[in-house]
Amino acid sequence: MNERILVLDDEASIIELLGQHLTEEGYGCDLFTSPVEALDSLKSTRYDLLITDLKMPEVHGIDVVLLSKQEDSELAVIVVTALSEVSNAIEAMRAGADDYLLKPFNLTEISLAVERALERRRLIIENRQYQSELESRIAEATRDLERTNRELSGTKDYLESLFHSTVDAILTVDESFKISFANDGATHMFGYTRTELEQMPLATLLHGGNDELQYVYRMLDHDKQLQNYESEIQHKSDRLIPINISLSQVHNPDTNQVSTLAICKDITQQKRLENELKEMSIKDSLTSLYNQRYFYDRLESEIERATRQKHPLSLLLFDIDKFKPYNDCHGHLEGDRVLKTVGEVVMECTREHVDIGFRYGGDEFTVILPEAGEEQAYVIADRIRQSFEAKRFDRLTLSVGLMEYRPGSTARFFIRFADAMMYDAKRSGGNSVIVYKPEETPEGETIDAES
Ligand code: GH3
Ligand code: MG
Repeated sequence: MNERILVLDDEASIIELLGQHLTEEGYGCDLFTSPVEALDSLKSTRYDLLITDLKMPEVHGIDVVLLSKQEDSELAVIVVTALSEVSNAIEAMRAGADDYLLKPFNLTEISLAVERALERRRLIIENRQYQSELESRIAEATRDLERTNRELSGTKDYLESLFHSTVDAILTVDESFKISFANDGATHMFGYTRTELEQMPLATLLHGGNDELQYVYRMLDHDKQLQNYESEIQHKSDRLIPINISLSQVHNPDTNQVSTLAICKDITQQKRLENELKEMSIKDSLTSLYNQRYFYDRLESEIERATRQKHPLSLLLFDIDKFKPYNDCHGHLEGDRVLKTVGEVVMECTREHVDIGFRYGGDEFTVILPEAGEEQAYVIADRIRQSFEAKRFDRLTLSVGLMEYRPGSTARFFIRFADAMMYDAKRSGGNSVIVYKPEETPEGETIDAES
């Protein structure tokens, strides 16, 4: 034990008694008979306990208690008083004293009171230290929390700004297939405000509606990710936007819910370019009619459609009569102008979005006439023939072969007989339309003889 005790009493015999007893108990003791000197010493030295008399001539013991407590609020204080002045002791306790001793002393009582007061002081100090340690830990944890919050909010802002700065549309879709988040890209791409988009069923946006939604989720059930799936989105203004969607399912462990993340890229430009390239690959650059390669594909699909829908289908195959001499006489460029004009004539004389004209090769052309029987096809064919003749390229004319499709036949035979009719027209002097009649089938061949 090395606690220090200041003992103050104007009676020298008392401080000596106390001093001797407490020193024997192992405490360090400073003894004062003067309160002024004692208070000075309290200022310069750190004490654990003050034992002070209350009734002193110079300064009253209660003032000593108050002043010493001002100096050190944790200082343990025991006041000493006579039995007749117990009320003073109570006042001293109110001023901050921990205990009081009544004169005359009982040394055991003194020892117990000193031990109690010092123990109390130790507990107070420990408690205060513990409290301040706790406070500093709480302050540190609060600072950490604030820093983490700031960092998280910074990360959140950054991620949000990333989400919003991209031109791609980013959506999250909840388990009831409604949009739960939409970025700025989505509002620009689809023409809706964020409020309109959030809570909107995803099917409303998809051009394929609920059927497409079900298809998408069937794929996701299978794979969790659906990359580069091409679709069309219905813009608020009803126009369709071609998009490329990547979909993935995201599990949120906090809510145990699965949401779907959709990233949509607007591929309008890409589609336009693709269509232009496709058009270029199937079109004849001189006449702007479709080319031979596309003719075969298209004829096959039109035969299939006509068979399925039980509609008539006709085919024209025509060639410019005596074009070679015209070419030789007027030159190749002029010849090109004639071919270009045939293209224009075909466009003028056929039904827009129904009939399809092709440059078959050289000065040969074909026209597919869906849903047109022989008679209707003849009207169109003759209109083409007349219209070209009216262009008056010297005496250039057309020889046209016409055939209506017979069920069960093939594209090869269809072309072959239309071609045969075209040559018949040429043989009979050109500038005419010859229609295939079944009885005109070349010898040994029947229209149904496919092989
Ligand atoms: P026919 O009356 O029997 O049809 O004979 P034709 O003189 O019209 O000659 P034919 O159909 O046998 O040959 C087609 C000619 O068309 C050959 C060539 O001089 C010309 N030709 C083919 N392709 C082009 C082209 O791209 N530009 C030009 N200017 N002429 C072409
Ligand atoms: Mg010719």
